[in-house]
Amino acid sequence: MRKTYLLFWKNSLNRYSINALLGALETKKLLNNFEIIFFNSIQDLNISFKSSVIFCFSFCSFNIFEIYKIVSTLKTKYKNSIFLAGGPHPSGDIYGSLCFGFDFVFVGESEESFCLFLDNFLNGNEFKSTPGVAYLEKENVKINKNKKYVDLNQYFPFSKSLMRFGPLEITRGCPFACKYCQTSFLFGTKVRHRSILTILEWIKFFKSINLTDIRFITPNALAYGSRNGREVNIEAIEELLTKIREILPYGRIFFGSFPSEVRPEQLSEKIMRLLAKKIDNKNLVIGAQTGSERMLRSMGRQHTLDDVRSAVRLAVKYNFIPCVDFIFGLPGETKEDEQDTILFMQELTQLGARVHAHTFIPLPGTPWEDKSPGKISIDVRRAITRLISNGKAFGNWERQETEAEKLVKFWRNKFDLQGYL
Ligand code: SF4
Repeated sequence: MRKTYLLFWKNSLNRYSINALLGALETKKLLNNFEIIFFNSIQDLNISFKSSVIFCFSFCSFNIFEIYKIVSTLKTKYKNSIFLAGGPHPSGDIYGSLCFGFDFVFVGESEESFCLFLDNFLNGNEFKSTPGVAYLEKENVKINKNKKYVDLNQYFPFSKSLMRFGPLEITRGCPFACKYCQTSFLFGTKVRHRSILTILEWIKFFKSINLTDIRFITPNALAYGSRNGREVNIEAIEELLTKIREILPYGRIFFGSFPSEVRPEQLSEKIMRLLAKKIDNKNLVIGAQTGSERMLRSMGRQHTLDDVRSAVRLAVKYNFIPCVDFIFGLPGETKEDEQDTILFMQELTQLGARVHAHTFIPLPGTPWEDKSPGKISIDVRRAITRLISNGKAFGNWERQETEAEKLVKFWRNKFDLQGYL
């Protein structure tokens, strides 16, 4: 059988998704059937292919201009290829992504559907009806429902043969479903954990290849081992960190810092004592998003400002730098809410926190997808600029403000692409 070319578009934002997909293909022993190629731009693909070609794009909303340009060009150049899309943006805007020129969209988590689809393709079987896949039929979207959630223990998180590694995903799903965030809508509200046994197998393997900095992917590090993601299972977290440390006495464990974070109401003295003993990160990423109690309720955060104050104090007490996430330009925010946020950021930074500043982007698939992109008022702009100049804040909030408007216009006017190409 001639090999099929499987081409992955890669950039800095989708490498974790590509790792998971390749890990899944390796788990199902499908990887060897493919010639895997990674590319970032059209220029990387100055080649002609001798057999079937499948292009795979996993992307978020920030990438859509780039994706649109690349896919339009590739579809002209490689006419008989198949174009697959997955990830947060296509899962939230299935129709728009199919209109971009993708043949199939993989909705939500895709380890299972991706493997099944490719297996059917390789064996010459019908692959359109794969659960979790969407496509256009006479201009209507057909979605093959997929009711099953992926069991993380059933799939490798990485491909050993391709030596593609990164942060290890330990938990998927989030019960909080904050209105601006795609996590719960993409992965569901039920938390699923990779078992300690499976994690330790990977840690031993990392040690064998001298990878001794360990980072984790999880919506909330303190949810590890929890039955519902709301109650902290301190025993599970302690066991996880202790056993990793036993394997890597001189390694570094990053827990609750990028690319994960912690929920403020879940930090306690007991947890902080444990973290201070077991982990190596200096920063602890804490989600707050606003300084207004009213806005916390409106966005469904399910914690209070006092929870954030207390989390920041605790983090500082145990010698961590709390990096607190804020989102500006939230839907329905009033002048009073903005003033509350400015005062709250000042209060937290005086306690020792750093502000990680973001601008609201209405993301497809979330309850706030139809809201207007965030606009930053003069008062907030002044306040955040002052904090940045004092080294107390950082973030891409300005770029996000400019991009958000452009992006939203683009995906809401799917048939009006003028001016974007
Ligand atoms: S913002 Fe955090 S807590 Fe809220 S839904 Fe997303 S991952 Fe969960």
